Formats: sequence, C-alpha cells, structure tokens
Amino acid sequence: MTTAVDLVPAALRAKVSREYHNLVDGRWVDSSSGRTFEDRNPASPSEVIATFPDSDARDVASAILAARKAFPAWMAKPAPERGAIIARAVAGMRERLEELAQAMTWEEGKVLAEARVEVNRGLNAMEFQAGEGRRLTGQTAPSEVPGVFAYTQRRPLGVVGLITPWNFPFAVPAWKLGPALVAGNTVVIKPAEQAPLSAQLIVEALHDAGLPPGVLNVVHGGPEAGKALVADTRIRAVSFTGSTEVGKLINRTAAEHMVKVQLEMGGKNACIVLADADLERAARDVVSGAFGSTGQRCTATSRVIVDRRIKAAFVARVVELARQTVKTGNGFVEGMVMGPLIDERALSRTEGYVATALAEGNTVVMGGTRASGAGLDQGFFFEPTILDGVRPQDTLNKEEVFGPVLAFLAADGLAEAIEIANSVDYGLSSAIYTRDVAAAFAYARQSEVGLLHVNCPTIYSEVHLPFGGIKDSGFGGREMGSTAMDFYTEWQATYLGYGG
Ligand code: NAD
Repeated sequence: MTTAVDLVPAALRAKVSREYHNLVDGRWVDSSSGRTFEDRNPASPSEVIATFPDSDARDVASAILAARKAFPAWMAKPAPERGAIIARAVAGMRERLEELAQAMTWEEGKVLAEARVEVNRGLNAMEFQAGEGRRLTGQTAPSEVPGVFAYTQRRPLGVVGLITPWNFPFAVPAWKLGPALVAGNTVVIKPAEQAPLSAQLIVEALHDAGLPPGVLNVVHGGPEAGKALVADTRIRAVSFTGSTEVGKLINRTAAEHMVKVQLEMGGKNACIVLADADLERAARDVVSGAFGSTGQRCTATSRVIVDRRIKAAFVARVVELARQTVKTGNGFVEGMVMGPLIDERALSRTEGYVATALAEGNTVVMGGTRASGAGLDQGFFFEPTILDGVRPQDTLNKEEVFGPVLAFLAADGLAEAIEIANSVDYGLSSAIYTRDVAAAFAYARQSEVGLLHVNCPTIYSEVHLPFGGIKDSGFGGREMGSTAMDFYTEWQATYLGYGG
C-alpha cells in the first residue's frame, strides 16, 4: 500500500534541508538556546519534514538590531530599485512554482491544486507591490505664502515586525513582505511554527535576489518569539494575521509604546441565498467556500442563511454536490479536494464544535466525524460536515470553527437574513446570491464586512484590491492593493521656502 510518506515527490525531498536556521544580519544562525522545533506532515504526523530554530527574546533582539542598522541605507535606496529586487525574487520563484506548492502541501496539507493557486497569488501580490516602487507618489499643494513650495511624500516607518499564520503559509508572508520592503522598511518576520518552510523559502529567494544584510531577518519560533517581537520598543509597526484572541493581545502591547498595528483575524462569513438566486451556482460556490482549504480560511463560508421557502431543497442540493465532489485525502493525490486539518488540536476543536452543535439541537446532515479508511486515520482528517437547523443564538452561528463545518440557518426574507448575518462579532467577508439588483445593493449597504460578494463566493479576492475586515476581524488598515502602503509608510509634509 502507498503510504503518505511515499506520496511526497522524491525531487522535493532531495531539495528540502533537514535543518533550517534564522536569518539575522545576512547570516544563517541557530537560536541562542540551541533549541529547535519540528515541522511535521499533517497527513502523516509521524513524519518530520525539517527542524527550525525555536527562538526566544535574545534572537528577536539580535534581529531587530540588525534591521535597525540596515534601515538608513535601505531607506536611501531609490524605491524603484527596492522594487526591482523584489521583482527579481518573484521571477525566480515563478520558475520554481511547482516546488514551492509541493513544499506547502507537505507541511500544511492543502491539496496541490490549491497550493499552486496560493503560490501564484502570493507572487502576484509581491509583483504588484514591486511595481508600487514606481508609484510611491505624493502631492503638491498651493501654499498660503508666496515663495513656499508645499509637498507631501511617503516615508518608511523603520523596523517592522511581521507575524504570520500557518493556513496561508506562503501567501500571507508574501503579501506582507512585498509592501513592507518596497516602502523602505527593514523587517523581522516570525512565521507560524506549524508551517514555517513556505515562509523560509520566500526569505531565501529574497536573500538570493540581493537584499542587503539586515534588511530582511527571519526568526522562527512560537508565541514566545512573537511576544518578544511585539514587546520590543525599537519596532515601529506590527502586521499580524492570526486569531482574534492573539490579535487583541498584540494590540494591547503595541498600544503601550505607540506602535502601529495591522491585525487580520478570524471570520464567521455568511452567505445569503434568496429564493430568486441561481441555486446551482450558489450551491457550487457554497461547497467550494466551505470545504476549500479544509475550511481553514479566514474567508471560508461557514454560515448559509437561506430563504425558508427554498431551504430544504437547497440544503439537499449542497449535500448532494459535496458528496459528489469533495474527495478527502492526501493533498499529493490527484483529484483530492480536501486535505487534513493542521494538527490534533484543530481536529479535536472541530469535533468539539460538532458535539456542541448536537447538544444545542442542530442536526448533522453530512459528515460529523474524523475521516477514516485508506490511511486517513493516521493524519488529521475530518469529514466534510454540514449541519442544519442552526439558530442565530447557537454556537455555530457565532464562533469560528476553522475546519470543514458548514451551518445552515433559515430566514424569512432579506431583512431577517441581513440581521442574522450581522449578528456576530466578526466582519470579514460575506456573499449574497440573488438576481434582484435592489436586494444586492441593499445588502452591500448593510453588510458589516470588509469584503462583500454578490453571486461570488466569500473566499474570492484579488491582490490589487484592499483586503481585510471590520469588527473583530480586522483593525489598523487594509492589506494588498495600493492601500497596503498606507500602513507601511508615514506622510511627511514639507514647506520649502525659495523666495525672499
Ligand atoms: P494564532 O493567532 O494562534 O497564531 C498566528 C501567529 O501568531 C503565529 O505565528 C503564532 O506563533 C503567533 N503568536 C501566537 N501567540 C502570540 C502572542 N501572544 N504574541 C505574538 N505572536 C503570537 O493563529 P493561527 O491558529 O496560526 O491562525 C488561525 C487564525 O488566523 C484563524 O482565526 C484565522 O481566521 C486567522 N486568519 C486570518 C486571516 C485574515 O486575513 N483575516 C488570514 C488567515 C488566517
């Protein structure tokens, strides 16, 4: 029988090191303590892919020192030249797209087709930001005084800290590193400890493309390293993607020393389906939105609020489609749609949410348990799961599961559907399926989210538009697009007197 270990491409295995290091001041170094942690394959957790330094405050301090030293020269380099280095790294990574995607499937578990899309998306984001090096424009303004020329320009902040999650282990580091560096900041990045290899490969590519020593530093590790980065008074900004719980902690610490924060956090994204919708299209998008990336997306469709008159038929169609199309298995196997969850904690958390839902009177109409058979019980696999009969006050309407669990709720008309959709603490993404333009616009006006979709899935976004949420989902400015530079730069107004 082919095992999960056999499925890892031999060429990839040969390329990936067994041991990785931090990058500090242009040198690859171990953690001060000598401690390491293991990056494991979630489809077969007994397999260790590589070890990484388990860093502490001393390692973070050395990285920040290096970044501070490198800042003046990097800031002085013309922005188009900074962009050109990023563009060179992107070109090199595009040629290795398959290898980068395979590395992600190995460490994070998502199916290879999705990993390819993610690498491409991460590279598109970096490419767009490399171009921003030529678009970092300011304004001129008429002065009140003759002989004074008044203008504004964007200035970099200094050393910025980036803290990233495991669920998009390539794209999130890519879309933060691009604008942070092109803006002229120097960087210390701490990738997620569950999937550090993808970020490591980006850092290596940027280093090889010619970033001067100290401009980009990577410090691997867990919360200890993350906390030390946020607590250091020498950083000027922190961009974080992860859980709302940690985001709130970071916000508190950063506020103490007036550090700018950008927080991209969880979601409880609703999809409203009205009776006049193209139900086939809606069903297809609900299935991909709920079960893509094993539901481990901040923008995953986790609630479907359906017009009561069509609910039974729509639930039946979604279940039928999910049964036909969502094949659960190892991400390296062609045709698989859903890989494993990231770790045992995520698996038991997901199980716990199903148990709570049952206790609250919700009904499982598909899945509901750990997946088994064909070697799946060795990894962190869970069945694609659908629950019906969820009410606005139930846990599944309120809390982020971050797994393949979809909740169905009923509403009597648009107004009630909007009320339910907005009745949560989160505000990242939402969707509505309807052919009624007035209903779509009413929803667009009232939906409390940063990303709104009409007849498109909640997971959809493009790298040249602002990305992020409101309420407990996002704080401190949008990522991606030109808006990314609003976070990574500060405006300076200059009054230049040239007259008598
Ligand atoms: P997490 O908050 O546990 O960890 C995220 C990162 O923060 C990791 O690098 C971790 O080591 C670090 N960290 C943990 N504790 C810290 C602390 N006290 N101080 C500083 N750093 C600390 O989140 P996770 O489980 O890795 O990711 C899942 C969460 O991320 C979900 O809630 C998901 O919705 C969210 N997410 C949001 C977006 C978005 O753009 N809105 C994108 C992807 C994921």
